[in-house]
Amino acid sequence: MDIGLIGLGNMGFPMAARLRETGHRLVVFDARAESIDRAVALGAAAATSPADVADRAETVLTSLPTPQAALEVATGGEGIIHGSRVRRVVELSTIGPHTARQLSTLLADRGIAMLDCPVSGGVAGARHGTLALMASGPADEYAAATPLLETLGRPYLVATEPGAGQTMKLINNLMAAATLAVTAEVMVMGVKAGLDPSVMIDVLNAGSGATHASRDKFPRSVLPRTFDFGFATGLMTKDVRLYLEEAAKLGTPTELAETVARSWEATTESEGPDSDFTSIVKPFEASAGV
Ligand code: NAD
Repeated sequence: MDIGLIGLGNMGFPMAARLRETGHRLVVFDARAESIDRAVALGAAAATSPADVADRAETVLTSLPTPQAALEVATGGEGIIHGSRVRRVVELSTIGPHTARQLSTLLADRGIAMLDCPVSGGVAGARHGTLALMASGPADEYAAATPLLETLGRPYLVATEPGAGQTMKLINNLMAAATLAVTAEVMVMGVKAGLDPSVMIDVLNAGSGATHASRDKFPRSVLPRTFDFGFATGLMTKDVRLYLEEAAKLGTPTELAETVARSWEATTESEGPDSDFTSIVKPFEASAGV
């Protein structure tokens, strides 16, 4: 049985590779023809639109950048809803709870089930099948999708209402956004004080200041100055904005999140939305003169 996959970017492409390696037949689509060609080279079949994917697969996975792209792919003129075979959509993108609920209703109107299922673990997690998958949706749909989700990582059923997976993901990403920002800030302070950044990272990782930023993002992309971790600054900024929107609706405190957001907005402005998110260190360096 073919699995559909729409969105072959930093996350979608390594997921395609992982699914092919584990013996899945794939039918794929992306707005960029060259991304489809790369997946075809892995043995995936090319589709001509989201509707074409949905004509050829019962289960369609989507890994798209923004809420707008997710809505367009699902419900646009050539969207998934126009497919004849599709029975369920597994929405792997980070789109926020509001859009996830909206999408779930629009799909349900066409008899298509949706599992809201954003992921965490980055490009490496997608490539090696070690993602955290934060599912929410009908329990029977979760049970049916679990073997497929286990190919991609460790699935959790966060709750049975769509949108809850997104809420969990926004919480996770605010933590990731905050720790990367604060790691950038303190590393710049240490460098200005004359400390060696590699020694600092080793000590942080042996001590209580260790975070995913110090353990993985700095050693892999900041210290070697490659800035190629595989997540765009603009997308992390989107996630922080979505977190703030949800917290505002709930009336929970956002004092720290707002400070974190300012840092991400400034990085999007100075480094560009397509820069790698590890570039957040650069505005701190510029302002410290190091
Ligand atoms: P990306 O920008 O690298 O990839 C998105 C892909 O979607 C691109 O190939 C693009 O061409 C395609 N696309 C955009 N609009 C389309 C449309 N209308 N029709 C068909 N294809 C379209 O983004 P990414 O980093 O792969 O992230 C995908 C999603 O996963 C985002 O919601 C992101 O927030 C989330 N996410 C990313 C990471 C990461 O580390 N990169 C980790 C966890 C979650």
